Amino acid sequence: MTEERPDGRLSPDEAFAALGDEVRVRILRALGDAAEPLAFSELYDRLPVDDTARFNYHLGELRGHFVRKTADGYALDHPGRRVVEAIRSGAVTDDPELDRTPVEDRCPTCERPLEIQWRDGSVEVFCPACESRWDRSWGRVGGPEETASGYLGRLPFPPAGLRGRTPGEVLRAAHAWTNLELLAVGSGICPRCAASVETELDACADHERDGVCSNCRSRFAVLLKASCPNCPYEMGCAAGPGLLSSPELLGFMLDHGLDPFSPRSVLRLDRFLNEYDEAVRSTDPLRATLTFSVDGDELALTVDGNGDVVGDSSER
Ligand SMILES: [Zn+2]
Ligand SMILES: [Zn+2]
Ligand SMILES: [Zn+2]
Repeated sequence: MTEERPDGRLSPDEAFAALGDEVRVRILRALGDAAEPLAFSELYDRLPVDDTARFNYHLGELRGHFVRKTADGYALDHPGRRVVEAIRSGAVTDDPELDRTPVEDRCPTCERPLEIQWRDGSVEVFCPACESRWDRSWGRVGGPEETASGYLGRLPFPPAGLRGRTPGEVLRAAHAWTNLELLAVGSGICPRCAASVETELDACADHERDGVCSNCRSRFAVLLKASCPNCPYEMGCAAGPGLLSSPELLGFMLDHGLDPFSPRSVLRLDRFLNEYDEAVRSTDPLRATLTFSVDGDELALTVDGNGDVVGDSSER
């Protein structure tokens, strides 16, 4: 049996050792699939094991941390649920293929059909006719990689999100998923572990306005960076979409029929969130004004080095 520590918690080594058997992982998945707690015999019947003693041994290894025995039977404890969620998201098992393929949604700049591909946990978006917004993809395993021309950016998206969706549906769902992540980050919360994330806005000191800047490798002069002190989560994006959690920007978008969590038009959403004007007013302390526009109305937000809005004005 796995020894419990005096505080009742397992060390990471002990926790992963407790998962190091196929039967145990199957037990967790069976409990995850069940709508309610399962009696010993019900759980046993759902598994391809024909040895009660062996089954009982493995169940015992999971109890006290991943599995809890309740009055109604065995149920997943919170850590067990997180393990099943990670498996079901495909994050620990799947490596799906989505090679570059055209979708119906159109480029916000030239209005030609976009193309998408899935690599390393992200949907990467390209326009075959436009210049890149970034000259490398930062989400690739092993570090940033040069990308093909017309690279508009990447949208984090777990592998299970590809299942049962057309490429166009994948692109819309990836926008929604990414914007929910930005909402958490902008609220100072790590979207993976809920610890407090540290966010920082950076302005390129010598930004080249023509194409991708060779200093910051981006078309955007002001970038948001966030990292979690508790887990490996980190992200970077243009400052504009990073303001999604601000009531000023969110309210303005919803007033203009732009729903970042259920986009009707990827073109309108992408154009609004990425084709804004940026003016760096000072670098120390950082003050930058981002001016968003849609349907002839404008919203100007002035932000500081933490990514907080310190002034706004809207014009119509
Ligand atoms: Zn284009
Ligand atoms: Zn630059
Ligand atoms: Zn975290």
